[in-house]
Amino acid sequence: MTQIAAQPGIMEIALYKGGKSHVDGLHEVIKLSSNENPFGPSPKAIAAYQAVGPDLHRYPSTDHADLRAAIGARYDLDPEQIICGVGSDEIITFLCQAFAGPGDEVLHTEHGFSMYKISALAAGATPVEVKERDRVTDVDALLAGVTDKTRLVFIANPNNPTTTMIGGNEVARLADGLPDNCLLVLDGAYAEFAEGYDGGAALVQSRENVVMTRTFSKLHGLGGLRVGWGYAPEAIIDVLNRVRGPFNLSNGALAAAEAAIQDTEFSEKCLAENARLRAWLASELAAIGLPSDTSQTNFLLVRMADHAEALAADEFLQSKGILIRRVESYKLPNFLRITVGTQSECEKLVAALKEFK
Ligand code: PMP
Repeated sequence: MTQIAAQPGIMEIALYKGGKSHVDGLHEVIKLSSNENPFGPSPKAIAAYQAVGPDLHRYPSTDHADLRAAIGARYDLDPEQIICGVGSDEIITFLCQAFAGPGDEVLHTEHGFSMYKISALAAGATPVEVKERDRVTDVDALLAGVTDKTRLVFIANPNNPTTTMIGGNEVARLADGLPDNCLLVLDGAYAEFAEGYDGGAALVQSRENVVMTRTFSKLHGLGGLRVGWGYAPEAIIDVLNRVRGPFNLSNGALAAAEAAIQDTEFSEKCLAENARLRAWLASELAAIGLPSDTSQTNFLLVRMADHAEALAADEFLQSKGILIRRVESYKLPNFLRITVGTQSECEKLVAALKEFK
């Protein structure tokens, strides 16, 4: 605890709990701050969740066999190589608890997801930040950052909040360049939004030192239920299961996630809408002088003139009941992270930013 409290900037990270969910005095809020699915969860997931009601006095499954089987069937993966957690946050926590401790180093990228640092510190390890190249993960810099103390390397591909990703060859080069006692964690929270990308599953199958993490919080719209999973060689899953509590996931979360992953028709519709609206939003914003990198996710990282303009735009949008995310804590003070919403939400956002400009 002392170590966590002593880290500069950690309070700012720890205080972030998904962003504000309301604006005082406004009842209807457009929430584009947490990269949630604007269409919500599959109706089948909601029904499955509700059906659990009469069984709430029962403890949930300890081995998550049904959910692991459903995930395995969906992606053609061996369920024995899958572990489920309370969001992929918990899988990240397990990885740090199991594989890193005092004296060890955990590498993450400059604009990488905040949980890598938080979990490394909580495990007593030392997080080490590595520079990116123009907001893109830099494999050479990561490999140069590895020391004999490095136990874990985290990259999100595509990355939050930068929206960028690196190709399969680059990821394989990173995996192959790491020493045997160092794990590469491919965080695929946004993998589904990058067309044709398997989140790193094939790499897990062909290597001994690669772990993939995935979530039900983004595409599947179940952020409130907290379900994520990891895929890794069985020996690693075995170790992770030793730090997992027996009842980490609730009945409702397990039932909803299982139904969600089986409802491919709903997922496909959400993906198609995201791709269409992402392109529309990016071009509308670029037309009013607000460019963004090509996004492989369900959000945009929009460049403002400077920090002052980012602050002013955020304040203006809040006054209109639109919540977006400032990303100073990710060392991107001149940018705003904006989730791709529904068509009407995107239109309202564009109209508000035109007025702001
Ligand atoms: N990884 C990345 C890159 C994320 O952006 C997030 C959520 N913001 C997560 C992991 C964690 O997601 P969850 O715990 O909801 O599965």
